[in-house]
Amino acid sequence: MSQTVLDVFDRPLKDLRISVTDRCNFRCRYCMPRERFGESHTFLPRRALLSFEEIEKVVHSCLPLGLEKVRITGGEPLLRPGIADLVRRLSALNLEVALTTNGSLLRNQAEDLREAGLSRVTVSLDALDPKIHSEMTDSTISVEEVLDGIDAAQEVGLSPVKVNCVVQRGVNESEIEKLVTHFRGTDVIVRFIEYMDVGRTNGWQLGQIVPSEKILSHLNSIFDLVPLESVSSSDVAVRLAHSDGSGEIGFISSVTQPFCENCSRIRLSADGLLVTCLFATGGHDIRTLIQSKSSEDELNEAIAAIWQRRDDRYSENRSTETVALPRIEMSYIGG
Ligand code: SAM
Ligand code: SF4
Ligand code: SF4
Repeated sequence: MSQTVLDVFDRPLKDLRISVTDRCNFRCRYCMPRERFGESHTFLPRRALLSFEEIEKVVHSCLPLGLEKVRITGGEPLLRPGIADLVRRLSALNLEVALTTNGSLLRNQAEDLREAGLSRVTVSLDALDPKIHSEMTDSTISVEEVLDGIDAAQEVGLSPVKVNCVVQRGVNESEIEKLVTHFRGTDVIVRFIEYMDVGRTNGWQLGQIVPSEKILSHLNSIFDLVPLESVSSSDVAVRLAHSDGSGEIGFISSVTQPFCENCSRIRLSADGLLVTCLFATGGHDIRTLIQSKSSEDELNEAIAAIWQRRDDRYSENRSTETVALPRIEMSYIGG
């Protein structure tokens, strides 16, 4: 098949998020709480992970369907050995290749990633305060190491770097203004993300979110912010800029302002499951197809068929009933 595919709600398939590992060197409380992802947790065995060649095959099969962008994620994608090789393979397909990382290993890998053709990088950083940061990430990796990773990305020309900050009520609200001030004038775009009910291990409750609107009204009382046009209809962030041109910030409001209507994302787990929504209860196992000698056309047709049946709009339908349903973990599909 060589034409753009549309799902049940006429949404095209444009973005593929590729999880390359379910492991991480952080244990963010909202993503991989240690009591659930501790010593006794069974991670995917090495042999279950798709090889880079297999991932490339999937991406190649999605190209005729309208794919424009891929994002490499995890777990922590920079833990996967040789990740620059995957970037090289994918960027050779004339796609925008982005990566989301916790930044801890970025200093050592930024140059290789850039040289391999990485287009952009997003670094997760929820707090500048060392205590809040270590409590949220449940790790001993310092804020300085993450900031140094951001610097490294900028030094090799990966600007503008985006910083993702998940805001949790009563946990890191104090960091919002500090992050905006810290990154003002640095070409780093800070984006505030509403804490989401992804997975079932973080004990999410609606009362733990801070609505973007509340954050914005607070920031508006301090900074002179002006709205920016969104770059494309599938852009999930609402963007604003400092009126003096000293930088941009963004909001991703999956809970209070769902954007399912324009959601063009599909996800590939590290072991070969295609997942059509961040809040899915399961995925479509395409590993056999990927690993068989069958032609790429067969894979392409299978992916098209999965997309054409897609009717997900979890965030628009969020309710007490949906919140109680089983869901795939964030660290498995990568956000
Ligand atoms: N380890 C990498 C990182 O942290 O950037 C990549 C994977 S992580 C799962 C991708 C993104 O999901 C991060 O920006 C993280 O903050 C975000 N995330 C994880 N759990 C979340 C949740 N419950 N609600 C909102 N965002 C979440
Ligand atoms: Fe690891 Fe990223 Fe999840 Fe934090 S958000 S535990 S860094 S995968
Ligand atoms: Fe897309 Fe699902 Fe999120 Fe809606 S809830 S925006 S369909 S991933």
